[in-house]
Amino acid sequence: MIKSSLLPSALLMVAIIGSIPAVLAQTNGDEPSAEMRTFAAIGTISSLQLEEGTPAWILSGGWKLRATLSGEDDSTATFTAATRMVMPDGTAMHRHEFSDFALESWSENNGTTTFNGTATITLRDGPNEGVPISIAVNGGAIQFSVDSEVVDHFGSDPIYGVVLRTFDSKPAEEPVQGNSTGISAEALNYTQNPVQVNETKGYSVVELADDIYWVVGSGYQTMFLATGEGVIAIDAPQPLGEMYLQAIQETTDEPITHMIYSHAHPDHTGAAGQIFPANVTYIAHNETAAALANATDSNRPAANVTFDDSYTLSVGKHTVELYHLGNYHSSGDTVIYLPEQKIAMVVDLLRPGITPFRAFAVTPDIEQYMQMHETLVEDLDFEVLVPGHTQLLATKDHVNTNLEFTQSVMDNARNALETSEPDPVQSCVDTTISQWEGRLDNLEEYMTEHCTVMVQYLSD
Ligand SMILES: [Zn+2]
Ligand SMILES: [Zn+2]
Repeated sequence: MIKSSLLPSALLMVAIIGSIPAVLAQTNGDEPSAEMRTFAAIGTISSLQLEEGTPAWILSGGWKLRATLSGEDDSTATFTAATRMVMPDGTAMHRHEFSDFALESWSENNGTTTFNGTATITLRDGPNEGVPISIAVNGGAIQFSVDSEVVDHFGSDPIYGVVLRTFDSKPAEEPVQGNSTGISAEALNYTQNPVQVNETKGYSVVELADDIYWVVGSGYQTMFLATGEGVIAIDAPQPLGEMYLQAIQETTDEPITHMIYSHAHPDHTGAAGQIFPANVTYIAHNETAAALANATDSNRPAANVTFDDSYTLSVGKHTVELYHLGNYHSSGDTVIYLPEQKIAMVVDLLRPGITPFRAFAVTPDIEQYMQMHETLVEDLDFEVLVPGHTQLLATKDHVNTNLEFTQSVMDNARNALETSEPDPVQSCVDTTISQWEGRLDNLEEYMTEHCTVMVQYLSD
């Protein structure tokens, strides 16, 4: 139904990784240009620290690097890393965090980009600020060296690691213009850099594509479309309330004519009855409609139009396709898809950049939850995805990372059960945190709940 030609993601990744040195070379070529370029990468640490030629510590962990570079001297870079050091005989373990990187200089040579600056490193006696470090990245590997005269703990060789994934390299400032599907450069930027919520208003509105708007505030995000013949609103998050209406009215004079329910939960939809006019057409999946009917909540009006597998809504110049691809989060979960712009909205599946909400987004079914990621990546041709929370837009990379994280928890829970760990949940928590440190934020927030439901699921 929604199969479409799609560049295999593995191929795409190779292509992007391969292109980084070339992009950097452009920025730092013979003629320095003032044009800024950004890139970002994440990866793992896998390194051995030798002392007098003998392995003394095994290092593992993760890192993140993001840089905005130009030929002028206004380049910036952030670098964070977390590493565990384990003695080869397993008798000792401790950890370090690298943060607050301040870039002093950078250079590009033979496809390797080197960043010199200082960082804060946590050591036994607490954080040490302003420690000189040097970070060198090429297409597939990273190495970073800590000045051993300042901190004599990491030996004389660099710490080595792997580049797992790199993100699009695009000029940071580019006039808002379509890519091939009309998604604005500003929107693409928010797949990497969180949008700043306007503090006075309490929300921000971004035009994702021609007359398609993304509203972000109060920890929630949603989307609406001005069609020329009325506004199609998707959801009405309760914490946004009147601000959602204000966001719509500041961008268009058109009346609100339709609302689509992504699912029935009141936090995402419970402002509808308060802010929308009485004659709005409400569209919901059958199961969502049943949940709304059961709730008899005037803030969540009953559906006038319902569907089973899919539904296409065309109003004015916009077409919206709705798909029910499984109950990954609640009964009647609906994927909202704009085929022309290749924009999807999938609420409460993942939170880009951070770990899922508690117990894998309180999923009723872990198999459907994991399957949903594969369906989205393989069958739905989208470039950006509105995930419902955080201040980022998601991409297929984020969906893949969330699935990889879920798979790690599953592997670690299974392993803990198979090796009869006395406390399989804690074993799963510890292993997953050590594997994902530096790669996803909020790692500890719901880890015990993630591991608890996974151990239960595997034990059933
Ligand atoms: Zn929900
Ligand atoms: Zn939610």
